[in-house]
Amino acid sequence: MRHFAVVGSGPAGFYTAEALEKAYGETARVDILDRYPVPYGLIRFGVAPDHQSLKAVSKRYDKVAESAGVDFIGNVSVGRDVSVAELLDHYDAVILATGAPHDRKLGIPGEDLPGVVGSAEFVGWYNGHPEFAHLDPPVAGGHAAVVGAGNVALDCARILSKTAHEFEGSDIVGHALDALDKSAIRTITILGRRGPHQIAMTPKELGELGHLEAAVPVIDPADFPPVEADEPLDPGLRKSVGLLRGFADLEPDKAKRIIFDFFAKPVAIEGDGKAERIIVERTVLDDRGAARGTGETYEVPASLVVTAIGYSTSPIPDVPFEGGKFVNNGGRIGDRLFAVGWARRGPTGTIGTNRPDGYEVADQVVAALPAGTSGGRAGAEGLKRLLEQRGIMPTDYDDWRKIEETETSRARPGSPREKFVRVEDWLRALGR
Ligand code: NAP
Repeated sequence: MRHFAVVGSGPAGFYTAEALEKAYGETARVDILDRYPVPYGLIRFGVAPDHQSLKAVSKRYDKVAESAGVDFIGNVSVGRDVSVAELLDHYDAVILATGAPHDRKLGIPGEDLPGVVGSAEFVGWYNGHPEFAHLDPPVAGGHAAVVGAGNVALDCARILSKTAHEFEGSDIVGHALDALDKSAIRTITILGRRGPHQIAMTPKELGELGHLEAAVPVIDPADFPPVEADEPLDPGLRKSVGLLRGFADLEPDKAKRIIFDFFAKPVAIEGDGKAERIIVERTVLDDRGAARGTGETYEVPASLVVTAIGYSTSPIPDVPFEGGKFVNNGGRIGDRLFAVGWARRGPTGTIGTNRPDGYEVADQVVAALPAGTSGGRAGAEGLKRLLEQRGIMPTDYDDWRKIEETETSRARPGSPREKFVRVEDWLRALGR
C-alpha cells in the first residue's frame, strides 16, 4: 500500500487527490490535510459569497472525500504541528497544495496606515476566514479605492457596492453583511496601473458590474484606444474591453459609482494616522507594455484602500521558496516532495486550471513511485499517533459534515449557511 499526504484542501489539493486515487486505485490511500477543521480552502474563503454556482464545485470535492481511498484530516498545520520531514517519514510522497494566501505588497509609503487592507484580508473578512473575521474594515467614509485590474479587484468592488437585497442567497457572513449594509461608501475607484487593453478581468465578472441595483460603473472614454485596436485582442479580452466600452455609455444615475481609473499607479497613501487619500501617478505604456510614470500626480480620496495585486504562498520551514512560491521543477520540489496549484505555479488561472495541474503533478508522483509497489510507511495511522502525542485532535470528513449541518441550521432565510468564523466554534460544534 502507498500512502500520500496532500497538504491543503482547496481545488488543487482535491484535484490532485482525485488524480492519485484514479492512478493508484485500491493500492494507495490519500490523506488531504488542512490547517483548519473544515475543508475547501479557496472555495470557502476566497470565492465570492455571491458566486454560489462557483462554490458548488465543492460538491465534486465531496465525492472525492467520500471515496474509499481518500480521507480528510483537518485541524493540522504543517510546519507548526508536524514538519514536512515528519510527514515524509509517514508518507510515500507529500504534495503541497497550500495555495497563495498572502497579499503581495505595493511597497509604497503609507501602505501600513489603518484603512489599507490586502484583498486576502478583505475577502477573508467577508468570507469568514478565522484570521480576518475581525478585520473591521472602515466603511464609514464615502470613498474607497481598490488597487489592481484583475478579477479579485472586481470581486472587492462589487461586494462593496451591493445592497443587502443583492446578497440574498449568498453565504456572506453576518458581520460583513451588517457592516456593508451600514456602509457610507458611495464611490469606489478601481485603479489600474495600465490601460483597458491590459486588464486581467474576465467578461462574466466584468459584466456583473453593469447590472447592479444601486451602483453604476463609470469610465472615461478617453482611456480607450481607437475601437479598431480591439480587433487583434484575444476573444475573451476583446469581450471584456467591449463591456468596458459599453460602461462608458451608461448614465451615472445610481447612488453608488464604481469608477475605473486607468493609467493610474499608486505612489503613496496619506492621511492623519489613517488612510484618507491615495496619491496616484499618471502612466503611459512603454515599448514593452509596462506602466511608466509620467511624473504627473493627483489624489483620490479613500478612507478604505483594498490592494488586489496578487498573492504569495506561505513559506514552510525547510522547503525551498522563492518569488512567492515553492521552488519546483514541473511540480517536483525534491525527493518525494511535490507542489501543485498556486503553491507550484503562482496565483493565476481559474479554479478549473487546477484540474490539469493536479493531474500533471499526480503523473509525476506515479512516475517516481510506480503503482503496485509498496513504500512500507504507516500513513495516517503513524501521523495520528504523532499528533496524539502532541495533544492535537484532528478532524475528519464526518466531523466536517456535522459542522456543515450546524452552519446550515443557523443560516439566514434564503442563505445556504451562516459560517462559524472562529476555530473554537467549529470545534464546539463537534462537542470539543
Ligand atoms: P491578477 O489577475 O494577477 O491581477 C492583478 C492585478 O494587479 C493586475 O491588474 C496587475 O496589473 C495589478 N498589479 C500588480 N502589481 C501591481 C502594483 N504594484 N501596482 C498596481 N497594480 C498592480 O490577480 P487577482 O485579481 O488577484 O486574481 C488571481 C487569480 O484568480 C486570477 O487568475 C483571477 O482570474 C482568478 N480569479 C478568478 C475569479 C473568477 O473567475 N470569478 C475571481 C477572482 C479571482 P499588471 O497587469 O499591470 O501587472
